Amino acid sequence: MLQKVLIANRGEIAVRIIRACKQMGIETVAVYSTADQDSLHVQIADEAVCIGKSSPADSYLHMENIISAAINTGAEAIHPGFGFLSENSKFAKLCEDCRIVFIGPNSKKKKKMGDKAMAKKLMREAEVPVVPGSVGEVTLEEGKEVMKKIGVPLLIKASAGGGGRGMRIVRQENEFEKAYYAAKQESKAAFSHDGVYVEKLIESPKHIEVQIIADRYGNVLHLGERDCSVQRRNQKVIEEAPSQLPKKMRDAMYKSAIKAARHVNYVNAGTIEYVVDKKNFYFIEMNTRIQVEHPVTEMVTGIDIVREQLRIAGGRELKMKQEDIKIQGHAIEVRINAEDPRHNFRPSPGLIEMLHVPQGLGIRFDSMIYTDYEVSPFYDSMIGKMIVHGYSRLDAIRKMRSALEELVVEGIPTNQSFLMMILMHPDFVKGDFNTGFIEKHLEGLLSYET
Ligand code: ADP
Repeated sequence: MLQKVLIANRGEIAVRIIRACKQMGIETVAVYSTADQDSLHVQIADEAVCIGKSSPADSYLHMENIISAAINTGAEAIHPGFGFLSENSKFAKLCEDCRIVFIGPNSKKKKKMGDKAMAKKLMREAEVPVVPGSVGEVTLEEGKEVMKKIGVPLLIKASAGGGGRGMRIVRQENEFEKAYYAAKQESKAAFSHDGVYVEKLIESPKHIEVQIIADRYGNVLHLGERDCSVQRRNQKVIEEAPSQLPKKMRDAMYKSAIKAARHVNYVNAGTIEYVVDKKNFYFIEMNTRIQVEHPVTEMVTGIDIVREQLRIAGGRELKMKQEDIKIQGHAIEVRINAEDPRHNFRPSPGLIEMLHVPQGLGIRFDSMIYTDYEVSPFYDSMIGKMIVHGYSRLDAIRKMRSALEELVVEGIPTNQSFLMMILMHPDFVKGDFNTGFIEKHLEGLLSYET
């Protein structure tokens, strides 16, 4: 089993991973930037190493500094969390070269599945249904050829994409060229790679993803699915488990997710993401890392996914079998952001003057904030995740409303009231929503009292 792990991340996910390590008797090393010296992850880890200045490029993305910190502290493994270096196959390779265990799939698999165009090719081979479109990256001319076959509306997507960036919708054929170059440019700026591919736009879909875990002995299990359709600009806002899809479709999605993982001999926790229309589901990408929304799956299965990642990386075999995994009740997660929804969701960093967190059976708050904590302007605006577990979906909705009503974050604007408006919305309560929900109801969702 692993003895000492370095956590190459910050914020709530670093705290989450450090806690899991402690509960397993594993020593922990935190790394931090100069902006994060008072952060919770630094305070609760056994050791902490400063790896550079505030800007992510100088610290949390600085591979050499992180590797040096691991070597100097004798950490035998690195957990990358999500974001930052978690999907960087170069970093996974560097860890392998330095004989440090990268907690995730090996660098070759990471490279294959991290390239979204390549991943789709592999999934086609595995007979997993994919969104109709190009096979791999395209030139402008090739892209236009694909458009002739699949028609509009379509999406131009960055192979290296993430967080909804490098994506453009084409609704009319004469918009293709402009959108093609815009997607390429955005991708180049964000990911230093400008390869793009083309796929059909599935109108008003649901975003459903299947959580899998796989060990190095060929055991691959699914932990059910999550509905992450409540999104703003292709970024998830609320997630829940299980989804409301018919059982037949859910079973087919599980089967196909396991097939996908087996096809690439996947090892680690991972997510197979699909968009779903009224009749069909289509693979869009695989995430080879822990995800922000993993807690909803943990709440309904009782399985600690980070613990499983650590066990798998330490060479252990999965203890449970598929038939042992039972989905119980319903879980919902909301992402609490330091942002001001009424001002176009602009980030609102600053001092948290007072914090009160609700408690109770089936209420979980994954966060790094505390009273007097200064939210930094250098990083993502997510400051916490509230997760609840209820007997039924309605019970979970009520529990979340009650938790959000009680939560107090004083000093900075947050999206708390906006989230409450979603939880009160009759269409959300009925389960009648897709990825266009927030855009469709934006005006109403912003009409809360302050
Ligand atoms: P990223 O890695 O940037 O998050 P994804 O491929 O996961 O990109 O897509 C993000 C979101 O964009 C999805 O959850 C969905 O809402 C939307 N999306 C992606 N592909 C399609 C598609 N072919 N049709 C309709 N919506 C899509």
